[in-house]
Amino acid sequence: PLVLGIETSCDETGVGIVRGTALLADAIASSVDQHARFGGVVPEVASRAHLEAMIPTVDRALADAGVTLRDVDALAVTAGPGLPGALMVGVAAAKAIALSLGKPLYGVNHLAAHVAVDQLEHGPLPKPCVALLVSGGHSSLLLVPDVAGDVRSLGATVDDAAGEAFDKVARLLDLGFPGGPVIDRRAREGDRDAIAFPRGKYDDGTYDFSFSGLKTAVARWVEARERAGEPVPVADVAASFQEAVVDVLVHKALRACRDHGVRDLLIGGGVAANSRLRALAQERCDAAGVRLRVPRPKLCTDNGAMVAALGAEMVAAGVAPSDLTLPADSSLPIETIRV
Ligand code: ATP
Ligand code: MG
Ligand code: FE
Repeated sequence: PLVLGIETSCDETGVGIVRGTALLADAIASSVDQHARFGGVVPEVASRAHLEAMIPTVDRALADAGVTLRDVDALAVTAGPGLPGALMVGVAAAKAIALSLGKPLYGVNHLAAHVAVDQLEHGPLPKPCVALLVSGGHSSLLLVPDVAGDVRSLGATVDDAAGEAFDKVARLLDLGFPGGPVIDRRAREGDRDAIAFPRGKYDDGTYDFSFSGLKTAVARWVEARERAGEPVPVADVAASFQEAVVDVLVHKALRACRDHGVRDLLIGGGVAANSRLRALAQERCDAAGVRLRVPRPKLCTDNGAMVAALGAEMVAAGVAPSDLTLPADSSLPIETIRV
């Protein structure tokens, strides 16, 4: 099926078009530059930017795919979780297009879409797989028997999300926003063993994460240096902080695989773009005999193709479409894959 997917849960206006598991277009307009001076996404600014970018981004995706709206078999849209006002723009647009074309609409879960997107790159997902979902707003470990019908939460962060920790640490190092890409870059010149930062909940027997203690430890360490009048070795701090985050993530993800007898691990979400996370996960998966799947970085951060991919999977699986009264649900639970 030809499916058009719309994503507006945060600061990316994404419109993707897929045919089954083939990616035809992935158009994105980001308002990230408008948020940079605030050090984080400003919801009202994001909503307004979605409103302005929506139609041009739909047009660009159609042109890139070489199709017209009439060719589309079904629509999919992120119904949650995300910023309420931002979600509403995408959901309203998707409803209008579905209504005008008389085509089915699937309101889907953004987090499940971060998992489903990998099919566009590596083909059908093994059933079951374990998914580590790490982004600006979420850090979860999922058991995924079927991404279109059955996703179960094993654990999640009890405080900050992994991406949020990257963003906050980048802010305290004056590296700008968003923090993930710049810390990733600066860490390459640093020593990841330079500073022993804490690994929260490392062996606590749960699949939960905690990153706020780590963030505080980095802040205290930097403050102590500044108080002593010594320069802050930014690359070493970035590398050591990053290592603490990815060490815990990979450790818990592989334990989830082992405990559940699952041989396939998928990593998704914006933080999955991190080069050290990708390298360490590959190293430890090879040692554990677990197959690793990580989409290319552009598919890890928010985009419309992931939403289209999940919609196409639902069409193929015979899932019933949503009712056109579907809501935008800012706190949609991960187990609710389709509203
Ligand atoms: P959510 O899916 O929770 O709604 P989100 O909307 O914030 O998340 P994503 O694009 O999935 O959006 O993730 C963005 C996050 O990913 C930001 O916190 C950013 O710092 C982080 N990030 C992006 N690239 C990297 C990288 N190379 N290393 C580490 N973190 C990264
Ligand atoms: Mg973003
Ligand atoms: Fe996301």
